[in-house]
Amino acid sequence: MHKLEDTYKMKGLRLRLVEELKSKGIKNKSILDAVGSIPRHLFLDKAFWEWAYKDQAFPIAANQTISQPYTVAFQTELLDVSFDDKVLEIGTGSGYQASVLSLLCKKVYSIERQEVLFKNSSQLLYALGYKNVRCYYGDGYAGLSSRAPFDKILVTCGAPHVPTKLLSQLSTGGQLVVPVGKGDTQEMLRITKKDDGKFTKESFGDCAFVPFLEGVDKNFDSSKKTSRVVLD
Ligand code: SAH
Repeated sequence: MHKLEDTYKMKGLRLRLVEELKSKGIKNKSILDAVGSIPRHLFLDKAFWEWAYKDQAFPIAANQTISQPYTVAFQTELLDVSFDDKVLEIGTGSGYQASVLSLLCKKVYSIERQEVLFKNSSQLLYALGYKNVRCYYGDGYAGLSSRAPFDKILVTCGAPHVPTKLLSQLSTGGQLVVPVGKGDTQEMLRITKKDDGKFTKESFGDCAFVPFLEGVDKNFDSSKKTSRVVLD
């Protein structure tokens, strides 16, 4: 892993990113503050550092992506987290979304199916001091029954259908934010579990995520421990 350095230049670029997110409609002050304080460049390979505060997705290891900051902020807004919430994230990826959640709620559990991402991101989140995040290597379709129920569940990959196990791990009044669709694009859904146990569904437009795949992928190459990014 590269040295965990932050600079005034990076801080300045972050504040510009916060202004950009505001101009794109993000209103929640805690989320904007989180984006303003988290060193996103450290979640990327050094080759991308100079663009780290552009509102863009970037490639990370295992052919996956770190989501665009607007998407992270938008999904987090939809999740409507409060400081005593217990949150489950599906798709740890770079760990950036988990770090945003960690500043906004009590406890974050995050599952990743790519072993290399699980290893890199759990180490990075720990090193950066996001101590209320626990990372798991596993299949997000199963959720995390040992820690259920969750006040909020956030899926950061595109699901072909709403995973029923995730619905069953929501607490009463809990909410699941999940992009759902069978093609290249998905519909952003927020599903709420009501007091009578029934679910309501709201839609928030189209989006495009990497696919929510079944099972786990063990592709960690121990001879390349320092490499955080695999580019084609
Ligand atoms: N939240 C991430 C976004 C990563 S992209 C971030 O902030 O960087 C989505 C991630 O979902 C990918 O890393 C992909 O490997 C993961 N994923 C896809 N299917 C999964 C599954 N069944 N279980 C857990 N993670 C999954």
